[in-house]
Amino acid sequence: MLKLEDTYLHQGKRRALVQEIRAKGIKSERVLDAILTLPRHFFFDTALISHAYEDKAFPIGEGQTISQPYTVAFQSELLQIKSGDRVLEIGTGSGYQACILHILGAEVFTIEYQKNLFEKTQRFLKRLGIEMHLFYGDGTGGLPQHAPFDKIIVTAGAPVVPEALVSQLKIGGILVIPVGDRKRQTMVKITKKSAKDVTKEEYEGFAFVPLLGKDGWKG
Ligand code: SAH
Repeated sequence: MLKLEDTYLHQGKRRALVQEIRAKGIKSERVLDAILTLPRHFFFDTALISHAYEDKAFPIGEGQTISQPYTVAFQSELLQIKSGDRVLEIGTGSGYQACILHILGAEVFTIEYQKNLFEKTQRFLKRLGIEMHLFYGDGTGGLPQHAPFDKIIVTAGAPVVPEALVSQLKIGGILVIPVGDRKRQTMVKITKKSAKDVTKEEYEGFAFVPLLGKDGWKG
């Protein structure tokens, strides 16, 4: 089993990564600090570990990827996490984004669709000693039994905004979701102004693995 060791070399590479994503436009010091705090190499398979501090997505098994650090920072910044926020993530994957939300003070609920990945990440987070609520299944229906949420983040590319997710947001809540085709997506930030009204902001140029399930892509 991989030793969870965070050396000066890793820390130095992490500082350089934070400078890189700052230069790309991330402004939130809290988000940048969270990226600086969390050893991204812990979330990598041994064979790829030397790449952990490149600003790129990498395979994590089951055909899935750990998101690019810039993208993790971008989505986290849009969510404006406050301490104590109840946050739902669709697409646990490696658990990296979920841990960033945890460091930002959120109570994290996260759902993963791939059974093997769910089990692997559950074991790993236990070993790290990070506590959050992990669920296995299709996240496109949200988590009605734990709703409403202050914030919801989707970390796979969706064909449409699943209605259930908007309905499980508190008034004033924020949903951040990449929407587009299977290869390229626009980041959509939805703020729920009232039970009926939402506002939308859009940011182009993202590439996620597909969101599957009921309101996702088929197969
Ligand atoms: N947030 C992750 C990124 C993982 S990639 C990280 O930090 O590592 C996106 C993940 O979404 C994949 O693990 C994929 O299996 C998962 N996924 C795809 N469709 C899903 C669905 N309908 N419900 C829950 N998870 C889903």
